[in-house]
Amino acid sequence: MTNPLTKKERMRIPRATMPEQDPQERSGNFNEVALGLMAEMAKQEAARCLDCKDPTCIDGCPVRIDIKKMCALVCAGDFLGAAAVVREQNVLPAITGRVCPQEDQCEKVCLVGKSKKHKPVAIGFIERFVADFEREGGHIKLPTPAPATGKKVAVVGSGPAGLTVAGDLSLLGHQVTIFEALHELGGVLVYGIPEFRLPKAIVKGEINNLQKLGVRFETDVVVGRTVTVDELMQKEGYDTVFIATGAGLPRFMGVQGEQLNGVYSANEFLTRVNLMKAYAFPNYDEPIFDCRGKNIAVFGGGNTAMDAVRTSLRLGAKNAYLIYRRSEVEMPARIDEIHHAEEEGVQFMTLTNPTFFHGDKRGWLTRITLQKMDLGEPDSSGRRRPVPREGSEFDIDADAAVVAVGTGANPIIGQTTPDLKLNRWGYIEADEQTMRTSKKGVFAGGDIVTGGATVILAMGAGRTAAKSMHEYLTTGEW
Ligand code: FAD
Ligand code: SF4
Repeated sequence: MTNPLTKKERMRIPRATMPEQDPQERSGNFNEVALGLMAEMAKQEAARCLDCKDPTCIDGCPVRIDIKKMCALVCAGDFLGAAAVVREQNVLPAITGRVCPQEDQCEKVCLVGKSKKHKPVAIGFIERFVADFEREGGHIKLPTPAPATGKKVAVVGSGPAGLTVAGDLSLLGHQVTIFEALHELGGVLVYGIPEFRLPKAIVKGEINNLQKLGVRFETDVVVGRTVTVDELMQKEGYDTVFIATGAGLPRFMGVQGEQLNGVYSANEFLTRVNLMKAYAFPNYDEPIFDCRGKNIAVFGGGNTAMDAVRTSLRLGAKNAYLIYRRSEVEMPARIDEIHHAEEEGVQFMTLTNPTFFHGDKRGWLTRITLQKMDLGEPDSSGRRRPVPREGSEFDIDADAAVVAVGTGANPIIGQTTPDLKLNRWGYIEADEQTMRTSKKGVFAGGDIVTGGATVILAMGAGRTAAKSMHEYLTTGEW
């Protein structure tokens, strides 16, 4: 398992480049953009790891995968061994290998990247490679669940937080049922993140594995409407409930004319495309605004905005504008996504903000007035505040607009669950160490606690909650 190369030799190997679909070709299809490393590339990339005494990469990983061990096993060609190491901490590695912001986590603190001359080990590429190798070869071995405990667990929401809790608790012998409001399972992994970044078949595969472990799923159930949290516990015999309903309530900008036809929230736009299969047009009737040959303006600078604008290109937009009020440096989206969007032909309009949406007599959007911005002093987020530039207004033609400026907590569960303490933004208050809420027997985690965050943080919260829910189920102590 020892890497035969000296440290100097390892440092001389250039970082692997992810093979990708050609930008022009991919902007016209929904197939995955990043194609994955080949085995020899993965081995060479893993050989760059310096086998550090104090592997800072592990501190940078929110679920503390033993990255150093993973690299050593890949370098030695033991890909299944490496996959097993990843699975010890991460139950959805093919997903996180694709969507985790590694550049802000493990790779940011990798010691190879410490000097400006070298780039960090491509930990995310390696993680994806081993997870795909394991899955595509049919090598995933599901552990046998512990004997049934007779305890019933309800999980509300089937995003990464809910799926993680369900997997962990079913392995411990508890009977878990996930209640999902939509007709498809997977949360943002299926309705938000598009096929070209995260193929739905991968998420489906993970859900099938949970089914094999005995997890039950009930779709089209809006907890708080169809059934309340109290009813689940008092009438349906659930011993504990985990709330993982995410942060899917769209926010708008409050600009005049924003209610016109043709102005969508990113949530609606992406859900229609992803769940109603507009991405498979013409095999499915396109149940959304016909973008072909049109001008589409997307507002925002995060992953959601990038996903929406790149989706509009794939639906045939003539001009796809990404309009953001700060500069590219302040964009919260992953660097790779910004780069991919630029390559595909998205037109970036930074330091620009809308002041008016204009419509025709039938109430459909036709034009947007925009205003240039300058950057002022930093605000509470630490980013420089955008300040409108007097007299800089100009108009663009727009047939549709997508607003991707953030989301909030869905209020239904908060409104229908007495004793559940919410913070001033409507998110559920839960103890960071245990994920316990103010209500006995009820736990919560993921975006509904933190506000919009990341897949890996939602999974981490699920894992923490599963531990303390198991403790509660076995001891009864609160
Ligand atoms: P969610 O994934 O939001 O799942 C919540 C589920 O609960 C949903 O299925 C919802 O339908 C269901 N639900 C809600 N209310 C109820 C109810 N009352 N009853 C029953 N079910 C209910 N993160 C990354 O790490 N990398 C990325 O590249 C990335 N890209 C993103 C792109 C987009 C477009 C979006 C929107 C988010 C992205 N994120 C990304 C963020 C990430 O997806 C979320 O942080 C993560 O999915 C949160 O997981 P969760 O389990 O808390 O909730
Ligand atoms: Fe390898 Fe980088 Fe982790 Fe060091 S910090 S063990 S070089 S991946």
